[in-house]
Amino acid sequence: MKTLIEPFKIKMVEPIRQTTEAQRLTILKKAHYNPFTIRAEDILIDFLTDSGTGAMSDAQWGAIMTGDEAYAGSRSFFQFEKAVRDITGLKHIIPTHQGRAAEKILFSLVGGKGKLIPNNTHFDTTRANIEYSGAEAVDLVIPEGKIPSCVHPFKGNMDLGKLAAFLAKHHKSVPIGMMTVTNNSGGGQPVSMENIRETARLYRKYKIPFFLDVCRFAENAWFIKIREKGYAKKSVLEIAREMFSYADGCTMSAKKDGMVNIGGFLALNDDALAMQARNLLILTEGFPSYGGLAGRDLAALAVGLYEALDEDYLRYRIRTAEYMGERLLAGGVSIIRPTGGHAVYIDAKAFYPDIPPAQFPGQVLACELYKKGGLRGVEIGSVMFGKNATMELVRLAFPRRVYTQSHFDYAIEVILETFADRKKAKGLKITWEPPFLRHFTARFAPVGK
Ligand SMILES: *Cc1c(COP(=O)(O)O)cnc(C)c1O
Repeated sequence: MKTLIEPFKIKMVEPIRQTTEAQRLTILKKAHYNPFTIRAEDILIDFLTDSGTGAMSDAQWGAIMTGDEAYAGSRSFFQFEKAVRDITGLKHIIPTHQGRAAEKILFSLVGGKGKLIPNNTHFDTTRANIEYSGAEAVDLVIPEGKIPSCVHPFKGNMDLGKLAAFLAKHHKSVPIGMMTVTNNSGGGQPVSMENIRETARLYRKYKIPFFLDVCRFAENAWFIKIREKGYAKKSVLEIAREMFSYADGCTMSAKKDGMVNIGGFLALNDDALAMQARNLLILTEGFPSYGGLAGRDLAALAVGLYEALDEDYLRYRIRTAEYMGERLLAGGVSIIRPTGGHAVYIDAKAFYPDIPPAQFPGQVLACELYKKGGLRGVEIGSVMFGKNATMELVRLAFPRRVYTQSHFDYAIEVILETFADRKKAKGLKITWEPPFLRHFTARFAPVGK
C-alpha cells in the first residue's frame, strides 16, 4: 500500500479551540509578537516544540498506575535504570527532571572559566549552561550543515578536520567533548555512525571524555538505518547501542525520544564524576533514585524509551516531516533540506528576502503563521542566537503521536497562504529582553512604530 497510516489508534481526545484571524491579531499584539507568550488554548496547531508534548501510549499510562513513589530505592527507579542501561550500556544512570538539569550538573562539574567545549552544534540550553559556568561553547558542524538548501544525508556531522585542528591547539582546555544527535539547532539533522566513531577517536586521542547529547537518539538511529551503508539490516535498538558504545556519557531530555511529558537523565561511566554529580543532584534535583521526578514518571519513561525505538513508529514519524517538506518545496517555500527528524525548518531569510536579520525575519514568520492559521512555531535565528546566528529559521516541531495527516495538510495550507502574502509582512524590533535565553520572553514591536 502507498498510504502510510499513523501506527496507532486514538483512545482519548482533546478539543482544539477555533479562533478567527482578527482574534489572533489581538492575541499576538498582547503577546508582544512573541508566540512563546501566547496561551496554548489560543493555538490551533502547536508546533512550538516536540519537547514534552507527545501523547503517551496505553502501556505508558498503565505503567503510570504502577509507579512506586518511595523516596529512596523505588521500584520504578530500578525499571528506569534497567531500561537506560540496556540501551546505553552506561554505568551510572542519574535521573533529572529534564535535559537542562543534567546539563547544569555536568557543566557545573566540568565547566568553568577558560574551558572550551566543542560540539557539532550546541543546543540553546546546552550553550547557556556552558556559558553560565564561564566556559565557552564551540560549534564545529560540517559546512554543509549551515547551508539550508544543501542536501547531505548526515548534515549534523562534526567537521572532523576542524575538530582535529581545534583539539591539537586547545586540548588542554577541553574537559569533555560533545556531539548532539540529532543536531537540533542545525535542523534536526542526523549524524552518521562513522562520524560518531571518528569523533570519539579524536577525543580519545587526547583522553577527553566524549558525551553525547542524545535527546533524539532513536530518530538518529533510524536515519543511520535508512541512509548509512551497512546498517539497513540492523535493528534500530542495535544501532542505538552501537552509537552509545562510543560514548563515555550522555545527557538526555526524555521529553523527546523518551516519549514522556517530563524527565531526563545524565548517564556516565566515570565513578568519581558520577559521585560528584549525585552530590549536586541531591542539592538541586532530589535523591538519586528520583532526581526531581515522581516514581510514575520514571515508570512511564522506562516504557517510552523502547516505544521510541519502534520501527513502525519511526517510519511514520520521519515520513511525516518528509511529506510536509515535499509539499512546501513544491509550493516554492525554502526549507532545510533534507527534512530532519522532529521538525520542518523554514528558511525565513529566503521567505522574506527584504527583511534583514536585524529585523528578525524568523520572528516575523512565526508571527505571520500564527495570525494566518493559528500555527505556532519558533524562531531559530538572530533572536535565539544573537550574533552567533548562522541561519534565520522557523522551526515547526512535531509533538510525538499527537497530530494526524489532516492536521498536517491544514498546516501546509496555512504556510503556503502566508507565502502568497509575503510581500505584506513587516520587520520587528526588540523592545525588551532578559539577560539569558531571550527568545523565551523577549518583547517585540513592528518596525516603524
Ligand atoms: C531539548 C534539548 C535539550 C534540553 O532539554 P530540556 O528537557 O528542554 O531541558 C538539550 N539538548 C537538545 C539537543 C535538546 O533538543
